[in-house]
Amino acid sequence: MMAELELIDITKLFGEQYALNGVSVTIAAGEFVSLVGPSGCGKSTLLKIVAGLTAPDDGEVFIRGERATNVEPSSRNVAMVFQNYALYPHLSAQRNIAMPLAMQKLGLLTRWSPRILQRRFAPHAVRQIDEAVLRAADMLRLRPYLDKKPGQLSGGQQQRVALARAIVRQPVAFLLDEPLSNLDAQLRVHLRAELAALHRTLEATILFVTHDQEEAMLLSDRIIVMRDGTVQQIGTPAQIYGQPANLFVAGFIGAPQINLAEVPIRQAGTVRAFGAEAVLEAGIPDAASVTVGVRPEHVLISAPDQSAEKARIERLETNGPTIYVHLSVAGLQRPLVARLEGDQQLPLAKHQIVGVSVRPDRLLLFGKSGRLLAQDPSRRPDARRHA
Ligand code: ATP
Repeated sequence: MMAELELIDITKLFGEQYALNGVSVTIAAGEFVSLVGPSGCGKSTLLKIVAGLTAPDDGEVFIRGERATNVEPSSRNVAMVFQNYALYPHLSAQRNIAMPLAMQKLGLLTRWSPRILQRRFAPHAVRQIDEAVLRAADMLRLRPYLDKKPGQLSGGQQQRVALARAIVRQPVAFLLDEPLSNLDAQLRVHLRAELAALHRTLEATILFVTHDQEEAMLLSDRIIVMRDGTVQQIGTPAQIYGQPANLFVAGFIGAPQINLAEVPIRQAGTVRAFGAEAVLEAGIPDAASVTVGVRPEHVLISAPDQSAEKARIERLETNGPTIYVHLSVAGLQRPLVARLEGDQQLPLAKHQIVGVSVRPDRLLLFGKSGRLLAQDPSRRPDARRHA
């Protein structure tokens, strides 16, 4: 399939500092791709380079197979929606939504002519514009607000107007820079669903910057995790969460954070952590230790006698049907966090002694450089027993 957007080795410097350093990404038609990473890692800069609002110092941008690196923003046919909406305050929602299409179809008539003249000189174009505005307004349930000015609309309604304005252009791709971040939690969830529906209906290609990893997980076909101007991993939400490429991704994605412990590599290339034993693939690390990670939901709690590892409950946090259990385990510097859902919840109390265990295949092993290491399940002691 032809790539809708292709970024090759994009580099951008501000003064001496790299905002982007050799970023390459290919996005297919109809894909919803999120960009996540700590503040300042280069997400917005990358989006602006695709939109043409910022020029890269090095690298190329291709849009639908055409080299676009030096093409003017207005000729790129991508629509950028910002966090702050950027609506015209003196125009109605209807005219805000219509604006990009009007500029395209009516040119100067848009600016200087009253609608009556526009209708007289370009009736066909005006009809097309009106229909496109109504279609976009219906998709985002904006019909009742079309005559209102931005100042008379709520934040969520203004955000929807900004999205509708992008839709009417029928762009090759939507570039969304934290479009939901100014909204309250309830509205955010609501608009998130609307965005997902929009993606399905329009089969649109979307590049979406967000600080909210849950949002990225729920909406995206693939997620790009960035750090200091570089891509750390590109993958489906399941890959990013389940097989993080390195310690940074493992720590950045997931709340509460992954549990980590540095443990020595034993003879025969095995490591023991959190009550489980894993076998490294032969010949991998040339080091004395590895960092072992386990997600909180993979820590199992049982009665103390059934498990290899004893732990003491230090704190219990209840969040609706979820309980986070903070445990102290001998030999671990940091508390181990377990996440229990609904019916897994035993009667638990602070200071109680319990057993903790982890399925060996749930352990994630990271080498000295932080990269994810492969396990060799066939050499695991339990695998041999069951063979
Ligand atoms: P945030 O999540 O906080 O919005 P971001 O990941 O979108 O951050 P960018 O806005 O792309 O990060 O910025 C990347 C780096 O480039 C930052 O260190 C930022 O300070 C710097 N930067 C961005 N724009 C400019 C500019 N116009 N002039 C100088 N430095 C800039």
